[in-house]
Amino acid sequence: MNVKKLDSQFIANTYKRFPIEIVSGEGSIVKDEKGKKYIDMGSGIAVNSFGLCDKEWTKAVVKQLGKFQHTSNLYYHEPGVKLAKMLCEKTGMDKVFFSNSGAEANECAIKVARKWAAENVSEDTYTIVTLENSFHGRTLTTLSATGQDHYHELFNPLTPGFATIPAGSINALDELSKTTKIAAVMIECVQGEGGVIALDKKFVKELRRYTEEQEILLIIDEVQTGNGRSGKMYAYQNFGIKPDIVTTAKGLGGGLPIGATLMSKKVSGTLGFGDHGSTFGANPVSCAGAISIVKRLDEKFMKQVSAKSEFIFKEFKGAKGVESVSGMGLMIGIKTVKPAADVAAAAREKGVLVLTAKDRVRLLPALNIPMKELKKAVKVIKSCL
Ligand SMILES: *Cc1c(COP(=O)(O)O)cnc(C)c1O
Repeated sequence: MNVKKLDSQFIANTYKRFPIEIVSGEGSIVKDEKGKKYIDMGSGIAVNSFGLCDKEWTKAVVKQLGKFQHTSNLYYHEPGVKLAKMLCEKTGMDKVFFSNSGAEANECAIKVARKWAAENVSEDTYTIVTLENSFHGRTLTTLSATGQDHYHELFNPLTPGFATIPAGSINALDELSKTTKIAAVMIECVQGEGGVIALDKKFVKELRRYTEEQEILLIIDEVQTGNGRSGKMYAYQNFGIKPDIVTTAKGLGGGLPIGATLMSKKVSGTLGFGDHGSTFGANPVSCAGAISIVKRLDEKFMKQVSAKSEFIFKEFKGAKGVESVSGMGLMIGIKTVKPAADVAAAAREKGVLVLTAKDRVRLLPALNIPMKELKKAVKVIKSCL
């Protein structure tokens, strides 16, 4: 079957694909249609947390498939509550709403924030403030939250009630608050699509202090940074703050679609019967997969994530052809002298798959990538700089 030709004929033209077809894989190795093997340094954009066809994950998923694959949210089931309990215990959050993607997790967070502000501040307090260069999803409302104009072009009118400020500027937020009633501020601790840029620690702390003082909710979008990627369960835990709402998706399901909106005690009573819902939300198979991922994200495992992160930073910082290295944990951006796309193409030729974000080469390997494969991939990428 000529997959590439049929793809361009029958699939909507929204993705600029790399010129390979993935047919199988194991761990951090993927195989293309010609049988060529690659070391995967992107893990499906931070989705395959434990690589491809991870044994423990596959077993958990298949086991649940043999019981039942779906039930409506009108019935109780164990995988959903088990996963929610684990997420609350790992974060100190109070309740979870499950959906199927990052954008949906953010939609839920925005609804919670608006209803909370309407009930607890005033009905005309609804504006959600995000940061310039942010990315929060592709639905019309999360697109409105996204602080990059090029995503907005020709999709107007966007959802009203959003504003952006530059990252790092509490002053800009304070100025805005004089003319606008703000319900919540939503941030990514490391801007992923924006070029793998970690926020300044002092700014995040100051933002938490300011929002608390002003009765503004703080939402952390952990769709990409979450589930061990940063070297902690959630990236905000590196910043010494406690948000009001946390959203996550990508790596949570280990490869199956799931989104989660974690609500602190302050806001967890906001949504009531009929306020929100999702047919596929808390799908038991996705939840079973997610449980097998979250279960393994303990302190010891995080240490090896951090060790691998340090190795990558050390290898690329100051290396020939590298301008700078950014990010956190196993979410790393490398600003290269050559165009990032050229580096990605050269690495692909040599059997290593990397992603790009803006002008950077972006690395998002599986959290359990074997050191041997990681070393080999780094060597290959360096030879392409
Ligand atoms: C990927 C991403 C989203 C959107 O997630 P989808 O699952 O594609 O809807 C939202 N926020 C951030 C930070 C992301 O990286």
